[in-house]
Amino acid sequence: MQITVLSGGVGGARFVRGLVHALSRDGVEGDHRVTVVGNTGDDITLFGLRVCPDLDSLLYTLGGAVDEGQGWGREEDSRRVMDELGALGVQPQWFGLGDKDLGTHVARSLWLSQGATLSEVTARLAARWGLPGQGVRLLPATDTPIETHVVVDDGDGGERAIHFQEWWVRHGAGLPARRFTVAGLHQATPAPGVLEAVREADVVLLPPSNPVVSIGIILGVPGVRDALRGTRAPVVGVSPIIGGRPVRGHADACLAPLGVEVSAAGVAGLYADLLDGWLVDDADAGSASPARVTVRHLDLLMRDTEGAARIAGAALDLARDLSADAR
Ligand code: GDP
Ligand code: CA
Repeated sequence: MQITVLSGGVGGARFVRGLVHALSRDGVEGDHRVTVVGNTGDDITLFGLRVCPDLDSLLYTLGGAVDEGQGWGREEDSRRVMDELGALGVQPQWFGLGDKDLGTHVARSLWLSQGATLSEVTARLAARWGLPGQGVRLLPATDTPIETHVVVDDGDGGERAIHFQEWWVRHGAGLPARRFTVAGLHQATPAPGVLEAVREADVVLLPPSNPVVSIGIILGVPGVRDALRGTRAPVVGVSPIIGGRPVRGHADACLAPLGVEVSAAGVAGLYADLLDGWLVDDADAGSASPARVTVRHLDLLMRDTEGAARIAGAALDLARDLSADAR
């Protein structure tokens, strides 16, 4: 069975870890391969280093090395390099990078400077973290550098665009966003294997990732959304919104400029053209859904790996039932 997942950082990574757990525990029939297509719109160059926060959250989480409390960065990391950069007056100081984490960014930047593509770099990092041994292939959505920017008021009646990370991390998404733009997106092409992974999948899963700045960016890479619309595989999503609120992060501030209601139904509407199945929390049982979408409800809180495995298993069950119905 080929399972393709479009993923952001923390929410997506926890879901994928649960999925891998469910597949190995339940011994789902046959060989299965999980292809994760990771968002690269959050990528940023800091201190001359290329940082890919969502890919790194996936790598560290699947590699058992993530800082569980934060959901990103390495466990038991230190900040000696950042402290020294601060003493040197090097900006920015609002984006924290741990010492072990910096090793990833140094290696990635080195390999990119030597001519490797982001896909190749990501494959090397995935090998370091044992993803192939778990049956997981991690692909960046695109090898073309793209960056999500947020257009905000400049305080002078006009507007200015800031990098997504500056908006999210420095300002805590507190500056009202007028809209999001993604530099480089129109020229971007899907990374090798991405379209095939969607077209040839038996199941496509949308984890409870941010629908605008994580999954929305991946769907914006030319060709990806059409591939999801056209795939014969059932597309099953998991709501990141429970009871009208994001579980963590600021998805509400991302939905606002789109005029989309902060609800499970609002998010489903963003996927209406490609979604077949939708999992919502028990709190949202009875929530409206786009036509032809099958909705089921369950506890959607990923308290731990077991909890995430339970949700991923429910998504696979729904996909299997939808496939059987289509036959
Ligand atoms: P990011 O790139 O690190 O922001 O991570 P993602 O985009 O992959 O996921 C962020 C989304 O995950 C947020 O909108 C959260 O509401 C959602 N999320 C986080 N934890 C949970 C959880 O336990 N259950 C559900 N349903 N959603 C969650
Ligand atoms: Ca992200």
